[in-house]
Amino acid sequence: MIQKKPVMSKTKSSESVKVVVRCRPLNRKEESNGPAGGIVQMDLRLGQVILRNPRASASEPQKTFTFDAVYDANSKQRDLYDESVRPLIDSVLAGFNGTIFAYGQTGTGKTYTMQGAWLDPEKRGVIPNAFDHIFTHISRSQSDKQYLVRASYLEIYLEEVRDLLDPNHGNARALELRENPESGVYVRDLTSCVCKSIKEIEEVMNVGNQARAVGATDMNEHSSRSHALFLITVECSQPGPDGRKHIRVGRLNLVDLAGSERQAKTGVQGERLKEAAKINLSLSALGNVISALADGRSSHVPYRDSKLTRLLQDSLGGNAKTVMVATLGPAPQHYDETLTTLRYANRAKNIQNQPRVNEDPKDALLREFQLEIARLRAQLNHRKWRSKQKKEQVDGGWEGDGDEETEGEEGEEEVEKEAEEYVKLQEQQLEREKQDIREDQFMLADEKQRLLGEKERMMGDLRKEQEATEQLTAKYKAMESKLLVGGKNITDHTNEQQKMLEMKRHEIAEQTRREREIQQQMLVQDDETVELRETFTSLQQEVEAKTKKLKKLYAKLQCIKAEIQDVNDEHVRSRQELEQTQNELTRELKFKYLIIENFIPPEEKNKIMNRLTFDPEEDQWKFQPLVPAESKSSQMKKRPSSAVGYKRPISQYARVAIAMGAHSRYRAENIMFLELDMTPPNTATLDCSTKSERNQIPSLDNSPTKDSGVCKSRSWCQTPKSITSSSSNVSLAACHTATPMTAQ
Ligand code: ADP
Ligand code: MG
Repeated sequence: MIQKKPVMSKTKSSESVKVVVRCRPLNRKEESNGPAGGIVQMDLRLGQVILRNPRASASEPQKTFTFDAVYDANSKQRDLYDESVRPLIDSVLAGFNGTIFAYGQTGTGKTYTMQGAWLDPEKRGVIPNAFDHIFTHISRSQSDKQYLVRASYLEIYLEEVRDLLDPNHGNARALELRENPESGVYVRDLTSCVCKSIKEIEEVMNVGNQARAVGATDMNEHSSRSHALFLITVECSQPGPDGRKHIRVGRLNLVDLAGSERQAKTGVQGERLKEAAKINLSLSALGNVISALADGRSSHVPYRDSKLTRLLQDSLGGNAKTVMVATLGPAPQHYDETLTTLRYANRAKNIQNQPRVNEDPKDALLREFQLEIARLRAQLNHRKWRSKQKKEQVDGGWEGDGDEETEGEEGEEEVEKEAEEYVKLQEQQLEREKQDIREDQFMLADEKQRLLGEKERMMGDLRKEQEATEQLTAKYKAMESKLLVGGKNITDHTNEQQKMLEMKRHEIAEQTRREREIQQQMLVQDDETVELRETFTSLQQEVEAKTKKLKKLYAKLQCIKAEIQDVNDEHVRSRQELEQTQNELTRELKFKYLIIENFIPPEEKNKIMNRLTFDPEEDQWKFQPLVPAESKSSQMKKRPSSAVGYKRPISQYARVAIAMGAHSRYRAENIMFLELDMTPPNTATLDCSTKSERNQIPSLDNSPTKDSGVCKSRSWCQTPKSITSSSSNVSLAACHTATPMTAQ
């Protein structure tokens, strides 16, 4: 099937990342050990957060930040969802990519916001609400729409991507990140489960949650030690005006980040400290990406600095719609972290994305499913038709020219019924025939046996055929049930009242959002127009007004000065932390060096070092293979095809030698006799002064007693056997005389 290239949406406008802030209530521990009251105030109407510095004097101005929406300690999970998340999920259902991530210090409510308490309907977080939303939407959509929903769950733990749905999660290898121009960055070999209902997708989530790495720190008993990404892909197929089915694919990333935390505050050590260093590393990489994008001037965005930022590449500055939920704690002792979170969140507002609809992408699984279902259905129909035709033949109603096409108008159910009837009839008939054979008294016993056997075999064939059809039907039904069809009741609460209620809530949320936007715009305009409205009647009045303005500007200046001081302090603090991490790493490096220098032989070390290369794609050192892959085959010389059947390639000379018999002169191997020579050593010296005598040398061989020096072993030349030279062996004879001379 020809598939179109994904086309950009017609409205390729950019849209900024939506940033909302949520502050959790003071917890019991904070209430008991701190001064009463929090440091965070929120203006819900204006979407502002006002932060008080507990260490500063009362005269120092408070810091104010404005966001798309703010949620205070009394906010309900549902409020946040309806107002800030629902529009995003609607976009995903329309084929956009969407991301929601919770960012903030450990213990401020990221996991609470994303997941919440599953059992309490009031406290269900963004993820379970999104499940409800998606499946309710499908059940209410038109019946010509087909959906396929898939879910994956992964975590990034110690900078490794792990599949939380893999049953061998603990021992499994870390997964690799890949990039392709069409679907962007993706995880290779990630498990993906097709989900047909809310219950099924919740089950997937539960399985993954059980595998997730959590550990207690001083700040949160069930602190998430990894970044968790729950991915939902919703594919929707709908017939277009051109009559063909078009597929839209929306991908939703639900991200629960591990907390940003100061190592000193969480009181962690050892393995936990290592985790914290990695968590902080990827979070600082995230911070750098946000800064680079918000800045707008830097040409390089460091996505590749961490796995997290690579996975969120599309969500930050890419083609996705993104909502960031920054979570805060109200406790005065966490003022610095709260301020940092607010600063990041404030910066993230400036990130511009270019959301677009994914239309007819090549990798749509729904298309594959549809094709497979169509193939199975054709196979099944063919089988049933065959049975039906046979039945008609049996009934005598067979007209001989009816083909599948013309009879295709008949109802499928009727065909199925007829096919079943045919099988039943056949069975009955076979049974009857068997009975007749048994009762036939004129038939020989042998003949009877043979006929009965034949009928039995026919019966077996019939059953096999029926079983195959049943299996095919089961496969077809299983495949088809994975596709969700719009308009079918897959959720319980689809009654009208509920629908109305939801719509009203949606409207109210929309209205609140618009109201807030207008308020914010008014505030900005107020500041700008105040000068224009001022007209002075007297000098005194002018002085007063200008003094007031001066005061205001001075306050602003102080604010900015304080801000600069804060940023400097923050900078110093983060530098100190980096230095601490660096010291830690240097110490570890020294330890490893010590072991290498003292316990690994230098030549082994050099060998290893020469083989190592750095793979920037995977951010890891790798061993080069000992033998380069391409030269592996060329290392072994091929045997000449002429030498088949021989031990090894053999020369003409050796072949003649074989023909000559066992004379050792012609041996190709084992030419030395290594048995001990028991003859006593001979001390006679050999006079080789004359040329004529030298020519005689071969004759010495005839008597070992006249041999020169000590005879250590006997070679072939010491036990000559006379060979009868043939006329065809002239060269061999020449060789024979020459060789002993060279041997001397
Ligand atoms: P994080 O994931 O940011 O480390 P958690 O979501 O685990 O933090 O929250 C820590 C604790 O605070 C949990 O016990 C949670 O129930 C509670 N909590 C967080 N946010 C809220 C909130 N908005 N309302 C009530 N309790 C909250
Ligand atoms: Mg958490």
